[in-house]
Amino acid sequence: MNLKDKIIKLKKEKKAVILAHNYQRSEIQDIADYIGDSIELSRKAMEEKDAELIVFAAVDFMAESAAILNPEKKVLIPSLGARCPMAQMLTTDEIKRYKIKYPKAPVVLYVNTLASSKALCDICCTSANAVEVVNSLKSNTILFGPDKNLADYVSEITGKKLITIPEWGFCPTHVLFQPEDVLILKMKHPNAVVMVHPECSSEMRKIANFVGSTSKMVKFSKKTTAKTIIVGTEKGLLYRLQKENPDKVFIMAYEDAVCPNMKLLTLDKIYSSLKNEKYVIKIPISVAKKARKALEKMFELNN
Ligand code: SF4
Repeated sequence: MNLKDKIIKLKKEKKAVILAHNYQRSEIQDIADYIGDSIELSRKAMEEKDAELIVFAAVDFMAESAAILNPEKKVLIPSLGARCPMAQMLTTDEIKRYKIKYPKAPVVLYVNTLASSKALCDICCTSANAVEVVNSLKSNTILFGPDKNLADYVSEITGKKLITIPEWGFCPTHVLFQPEDVLILKMKHPNAVVMVHPECSSEMRKIANFVGSTSKMVKFSKKTTAKTIIVGTEKGLLYRLQKENPDKVFIMAYEDAVCPNMKLLTLDKIYSSLKNEKYVIKIPISVAKKARKALEKMFELNN
């Protein structure tokens, strides 16, 4: 029996669900029960009432969110090394420092943060709903962390002042995209449209036809009449886009935009995680409770 079949068999025996982020390796996407962005997946975990075990093929903060939202289930991350560097850029001390400096400003945190940070914020947001979340707040000055590019994008649309914590937070993968690379591709493919993630720089956003989260990119790719699409996000999404749109051509805006943290997971690690039920995500109850409130507030807006 090959590894893929072994995983599928074990998954059934253990009543497990495998959730894979859009940036995961193609072979992991193929064995997953669901593929999506972090919050889509956490919601899926909540809907899977019969599942006893959740294997979250992604990075730390995503598995944490699933554990926060599904306290009665065992949530596993197949590698402890799969940590998002952007989430690590925001410390709780820094949030507390900014809260003292701007006592009236509400704190909005991107879901790409650790549970301990989420526990200190008023409301969470994703890259898909950040504009809506910021618009829902009365205040015109908002503390926002950790991604500076996403903050700038939201500020441009809402007209509100977003003070970023830290001032310089960024995704090491999305800052690799450069407009010069896209302009060269556009010369070769003049009819192509460009879609980029809001974690990209403002220069990239300016030359894009569409700016959106991975879930919005999936929708845009289906809807657009363009046959060639230049993509400005982590390379893993291309596999899904191509599979769901076989009549279209997807080209990476920068071929090497790969998140090494996402790619730490392999089929071997997924199998071992399922078999040995490791590594269990554990969050102190008091932290989980507060972080859950911030996530639920965000969900209320979407409902
Ligand atoms: S792509 Fe960027 S934000 Fe996403 S996990 Fe990797 S480093 Fe973190």
